Amino acid sequence: MDIAFAALFGLIVGSFGNVCVHRLPRGKSLAFPASHCPECGARIRPLDNIPILSWMALAGRCRSCRAPIPWRYPLLEALTGTAAAAALWKWGPTPAAALGFLTAFVFLVLFFTDLETRLLPDTLTLGGTALPLAFGVFGGTDPAPFDALLGAAAGSGLLLFVLLLHYHVRGYYGMGFGDVKLMAMTGACFGFPGMIYPLLGSCLLALLVAVPFILAKGKTWHYPIPYGTFLCAASALYLFRP
Ligand SMILES: [Zn+2]
Repeated sequence: MDIAFAALFGLIVGSFGNVCVHRLPRGKSLAFPASHCPECGARIRPLDNIPILSWMALAGRCRSCRAPIPWRYPLLEALTGTAAAAALWKWGPTPAAALGFLTAFVFLVLFFTDLETRLLPDTLTLGGTALPLAFGVFGGTDPAPFDALLGAAAGSGLLLFVLLLHYHVRGYYGMGFGDVKLMAMTGACFGFPGMIYPLLGSCLLALLVAVPFILAKGKTWHYPIPYGTFLCAASALYLFRP
């Protein structure tokens, strides 16, 4: 029963997450104006703003202008609902569950901002780094404050090195500095050496997904791969490891 309530709470937070994905990379306020259709500007009525159900009832289209509403809306809501239920199941009714859920939520929002806009807003990456450093400790590895700091430094340092090396060899940036800050967040969450697992996982995911995608779609190797999306996926999965 508690788990069901947690999932419902997560669905509502996920609905807010969609606002974050749309507005943060565009530098817009999260609070104002009220939710509206980005195509026709029509205000979204409360009944059309119910997580997942409204999207299904509207068949994924705006009630006013029939513009398609991306499938990301119900998906992020469902994923956030699942994360809330998983956090309560894994950590029980503890502060660790709240911290774990909040961290998963930040990873989920960043997953989609990078996928859709190739941007990883500082508010989220730097906030997500500060959170585990300030409150420490959750998850199986329980990084001690020093380990969390070491993880953040080692992770961001490694990615910065790769970024600069790539630039030196090929003459353009293969990643953004947002990826470096995101790796600081992963490092702070899992500490050192725990961060190595999501780091390797993200490389494996990128290899398994991005390479076939580039080959299948006939893209060149200059295609901008959203590495942050893969790092967020690996980090969020590692967060809920048994
Ligand atoms: Zn509309």
